[in-house]
Amino acid sequence: MTASQKALRAQDSADVVILGAGPAGLVLGNLLLSAGIDCVILERAAREHVQTRARAGYLAEHTVRILERHGLAEGLRRQGQEHRVCEFRTVHESFRLDYGLLGRGEQHTVYPQHELVTDLLARYLTGGGRILFEAEALAVLDADGPRPSVDVRDADGRPGRWRARYVAGCDGRHGAARRSLPEGTIRHHRDHGVTWLGLLAEAPPSLDAVGYAIHPRGFAGHMARSPEVTRYYLQVARGTAADDWSEDRIWEELALRLRAADHGPLTRGPISQRAVVDLESDVLEPLRHGSLFLVGDAASLISPSAAKGANLAVLEAEILAHALTAALRHSDPAPLDRYSERCLAYIWRAQEFSHWMIRLLHADPEGAGGDSMFADRLRHSRIETLRTSRTQQDWFAENYVGL
Ligand code: FAD
Repeated sequence: MTASQKALRAQDSADVVILGAGPAGLVLGNLLLSAGIDCVILERAAREHVQTRARAGYLAEHTVRILERHGLAEGLRRQGQEHRVCEFRTVHESFRLDYGLLGRGEQHTVYPQHELVTDLLARYLTGGGRILFEAEALAVLDADGPRPSVDVRDADGRPGRWRARYVAGCDGRHGAARRSLPEGTIRHHRDHGVTWLGLLAEAPPSLDAVGYAIHPRGFAGHMARSPEVTRYYLQVARGTAADDWSEDRIWEELALRLRAADHGPLTRGPISQRAVVDLESDVLEPLRHGSLFLVGDAASLISPSAAKGANLAVLEAEILAHALTAALRHSDPAPLDRYSERCLAYIWRAQEFSHWMIRLLHADPEGAGGDSMFADRLRHSRIETLRTSRTQQDWFAENYVGL
């Protein structure tokens, strides 16, 4: 019998039950652990899957500061690459913004999310943290009462139940926390009508900057992940399947949109991962229901256009960890009462910037209505303002790296 099966056999309890071992759940778990709070993480996937799932890469300075403050930044300090330049390319021109010299003078650290997750997990386990893999949360029950619980099942379908004082829903947009919300919970939702083919190429970066190509054929993006791996994005038609495009077609289209003929060829390599991402955003309000708190993607889904999701997840996890510690250690419920309002202020600001980026990088989607030429001219003017106005560049830098 595996540890996971034993754990699910009986009824268990912890002061805080955390659903999900992504950046949100693992930062929260580590912070609670070091505050001496009894907690457990329930994770649906296997450990191997959690540690290899490639997603985010750009960490803002405040995220690095949070991780450093809690001794969780060793790996990213050792291997993360500092990044502070982005380059916009249109068919007419290209320009670079050194955002490290603009706004608040902050930069990104590029560190693949699965590496961060691996570090956070190792640290949590070394500290004696409890985690169950292949333990899927099915529902959060009695969140309005004093003793909520979480129904779970293990990989073999065996059921179990965890009792808690608080439940942290860090299980993403399709998790059990969202499914357990009472009717009438507000979900603000926007489908931006844009689809990206997200690619990981086993190829060194081809430019020393984040590349945003704004092209009549659609957006293309270039983002370094490591000296050997580069993330590319290609805007594709809605309904495209991940395998629809051959590798040759992908590289040709990237070269065309990124204007490789003018700027130098792209370094090609095998495409190791590909996924279709429909650009969608949503925000749930409020982020607390009784003893259940929503954190990270469970609280708000933000399109990857401005690289905010993992950064928000870490920030919210720190805010919640402090609030739970105040409630459980010092019988002070006030920070928990403020959790939703505090986080929503950050979330809406990030959503606003992400929305601005989407409108900068893409033409109006088909069927958006109105005069598409009008939208195109607005977009051109937005790019020109960004290229020429120092005030606009400062605003961009502050929002691009900050929250
Ligand atoms: P997740 O990382 O989704 O973790 C949730 C965890 O919960 C998972 O491990 C899942 O297996 C588990 N789970 C789900 N359901 C259950 C259940 N029922 N029971 C138990 N466990 C469950 N953000 C940035 O800040 N910068 C970037 O550069 C960036 N790039 C991105 C690129 C792409 C292609 C994508 C898709 C996203 C990107 N993001 C980026 C967003 C970022 O990856 C997410 O916002 C981040 O992963 C959110 O962390 P989380 O912990 O809230 O959720």
